[in-house]
Amino acid sequence: MAHSVTLIPGDGVGPELAEATRRVIDASGAEIEWEVQEAGLAVMEAEGTPLPERVLESIRRNKVAIKGPITTPRGGGFRSVNVALRKALDLYACLRPCKHYAGVRTRFENVDLVVVRENTEDLYAGVEFEEGSAEAKQVVGLAGGRIREDAAISIKPISAFASERIVDFAFRYAKENGRRKVTAVAKDNIMKATDGLFYRTAREVAKRYEGEVEYDEWLVDAMCMQLVQKPELYDVMVMPNLYGDILSDLCAGLVGGLGVAPGANIGEGVAVFEAIHGSAPKYAGQNKVNPTALILSGVLMLRYLGEREAADRLEKAVAAVIAEGKDVTYDMKPNRDDPTAVGTREMGEAIVRAMSR
Ligand code: NAD
Repeated sequence: MAHSVTLIPGDGVGPELAEATRRVIDASGAEIEWEVQEAGLAVMEAEGTPLPERVLESIRRNKVAIKGPITTPRGGGFRSVNVALRKALDLYACLRPCKHYAGVRTRFENVDLVVVRENTEDLYAGVEFEEGSAEAKQVVGLAGGRIREDAAISIKPISAFASERIVDFAFRYAKENGRRKVTAVAKDNIMKATDGLFYRTAREVAKRYEGEVEYDEWLVDAMCMQLVQKPELYDVMVMPNLYGDILSDLCAGLVGGLGVAPGANIGEGVAVFEAIHGSAPKYAGQNKVNPTALILSGVLMLRYLGEREAADRLEKAVAAVIAEGKDVTYDMKPNRDDPTAVGTREMGEAIVRAMSR
């Protein structure tokens, strides 16, 4: 049976990447009925909002979407469509697998990590008080001399509910994907209340998976050092929002950077797949940037849809094209102005050919 999937091409380099991704997924053997929904800059001009209700309705109906990047104007303009999507659909888990493919130039090989980041609370909850505001003064009063009077304040909420939900997600993901271990990452030696609650909850969840998936803990600072020294020792890592933001970029760097780092934002029965990178406006319309990150997000989507064979076929083809190093975009060549680099479309076509070999 065909799966209905919402395809949001996005803006900047998004539409070219989305087109290449759609073609390789169509050639993977999975049957997908695409429902294309425009969002982003051009839509803002035409419809007065960058994220019209019709886009959300489409995702709610299909339960699965894949999207190209969308520009967030700096200093004014509209708020991030990406954040609005996560909020509107309660996409509480951000999944970022970071795997090394032979042929990508990196300092380490054998890296195969998955960062599971809580997406809804922590310092990203948006509860912030400007210095000198009435709210900031109230908090300064509550803190009994531990906060200076001229401090701006960002609140860090960590709940038992959200911690349980994200850690359980990490264990389920580990179990369903044949992974060995889940590592909880936070800093409870300093943040005893918030990060202490996160670890306590994680230990409780880990008991449910005893004998199936291992559990351990690292403090976030030590984890960073471990990752840049011995990344091959780690597997699935689960953490609150801010640590997850930082560590997922660190892990993407370990495996070759933005061009190859896929992602997914997942909620209860709904998921939006997207690359980590942005809309790279300076390359828009040039058929230049690397489609690998969005295509690998498509591989994650196929697995989520239960299309394991198609996912494996597509992932193998991506790996083969990268390992061969011929039909790849400029950023994957040893020299960035290598004249043999191919465009976005041509790399996609090479992946389609590799699937039929
Ligand atoms: P960016 O990721 O768009 O680009 C930074 C640089 O990384 C580019 O100039 C390019 O050199 C390189 N790069 C990015 N993607 C690449 C690819 N596929 N292949 C090869 N090289 C690639 O980051 P930015 O410039 O900070 O952001 C541009 C816009 O994208 C901003 O408006 C930002 O808000 C938005 N953004 C959107 C998302 C999203 O849609 N989820 C994520 C991040 C940023």
